[in-house]
Order: sequence, then C-alpha cells, then structure tokens
Amino acid sequence: MIQDIAPYVLDNQYTPDLPNKDSFLLCFHGNEVLINISDDQIVFPRLKDLESMEENLQEGCTYLFSINSQSFYLANNIANSPGTGFTMANVEIFRTAQPQYLAFAGITAFQIFSWYQTRRFCGRCGKPMKHHDKERMMFCSECGLQEYPKLSPAVIVGIVDGNKLLMSRYSGRNYKKYALIAGFAEVGETIEETVKREVMEEVGLKVKNIRYYKSQPWAFSSTLLFGFYADLDGAKDITLDRNELEFAEWFNREDIPVCDTAISLTNEMIMRFRENKE
Ligand SMILES: [Zn+2]
Repeated sequence: MIQDIAPYVLDNQYTPDLPNKDSFLLCFHGNEVLINISDDQIVFPRLKDLESMEENLQEGCTYLFSINSQSFYLANNIANSPGTGFTMANVEIFRTAQPQYLAFAGITAFQIFSWYQTRRFCGRCGKPMKHHDKERMMFCSECGLQEYPKLSPAVIVGIVDGNKLLMSRYSGRNYKKYALIAGFAEVGETIEETVKREVMEEVGLKVKNIRYYKSQPWAFSSTLLFGFYADLDGAKDITLDRNELEFAEWFNREDIPVCDTAISLTNEMIMRFRENKE
C-alpha cells in the first residue's frame, strides 16, 4: 500500500526548525505541486534549488515531517520556478509515481497543506490563526480555539458470502476500477456500526462476523480508512443506492480480475480474498 515505504520510516513528530539547504520543499498551488518528473520518477526541489526565487524563503517554510533523516517543508508562495527544472503537476501523479516513499511524502504533505489552507482564520471568532511552536496545531490568540489536523474515519467493507465477494463501482467518479463498500463514520456511532449502516445504505444487505483487517491513511481525502471483512447475514438480493454506486455484483473468488495497482487498501483486500487469504 502507499504507506508501506520500508526500509524508509516516516517520523511525523513536529520539530519546527528552519530548513537546511538539502531539505525538500513541497510547494503546492491548488491541486498542483512543484516537482521534477522523469520516467515516472519524481524529485522535489530542495531549498538550495529555489532560494534564488524568493527572499526569506527559509523563514517562510513550515516544517512537515522527516523520512529517515531527510526533512520535508511546506514552502508557500512558490507556484512556479522557471529555469530550475521543476514544474507544476497535478497531485494525482502521486498515485503512480516512484519512488514510493516520495509519493507517500507528497500526498501526506498535500493533506497537511490542505488543512493549513482551511485553518487560516478562526472558525469561532474569525481572527487569523497562528502556528503553535511545539506541536502541529493552529490556535487563535483571541478566543483560544485550538485546531489539530483533520482526520475523517471511514470504513471499507469486503462483504463475503462463502466463495463470493461483493464488488462495486462508484457512480459519477473518474475512478472506474472495482471497489468495495465504503463510507465515512458519522457522529455518535462506533466504527462497527458504520460498517453495518454503510452496507445497508449502499446495497441493502445485513452483515455479521465483522472482522478488522488493516487500516490506511488516505491523504487525498484526509481519511483514515479501516478495512473490514464481514459475512452476509440473510438474503443476498442487492438494493442499490444509485446515488453512490453504478453497480454491485457478487464475484466468485476465481473470477475476480487482477488489478496491478498496489497502493490502496481496497485493492489489497480484494486481492487477499481472491487468493483465499482473508
Ligand atoms: Zn478565535
């Protein structure tokens, strides 16, 4: 999966020193990132590549995280850098780019960038928010509001009926690969209740024997995904929520098509069922 970057290790402890000349700078503008791409291999600019572009660049950077001993920073206000070999590209590039640890760094940075973008002003009193100097937190010095990075818990459910798995496809999205049932947790429910509710809402089925598989941080939507398998409980007739799904069908284990993308929890769960390892 995209977060499986061993032997590299993400250290997301907030230690806000200034960047050094070799620190990677992540420069986002909307859904684009400043990057060098060659044969699907990505490289981010380092401070030394961009310091001629802007005065006080170093002081304007925000610490993100480190991978092994390499530090990553957000650099605001740099949307282009002619002549440096770096250009803006859509962040979707991170779904396929190599090396994977930089792609994971890229989407994780994008999640933090997106959160900072929406926390510039206090949601309670409207005054500008400030960076805390010890932890990744924004606070309002007027009213005291504290904001931490947003995570939205969600479930992915592989519904199993003996040798069959329920596979679906989302409506109205560009993403056309097979999916499992998925949805966000709502206020006041446990994650197991989310599983039951989403399955009932999207395909009209009851499930039992809910068993946890793995989790995945999915930065594109600030989501923390929890993957579960669950057994069908009762009738297998599907009542499709057409607002959410284009179709949902039972697939025999051996008929499940092999998908070559290895970044998502959904795909890993589908492939594990196919290989009879769930
Ligand atoms: Zn406030």
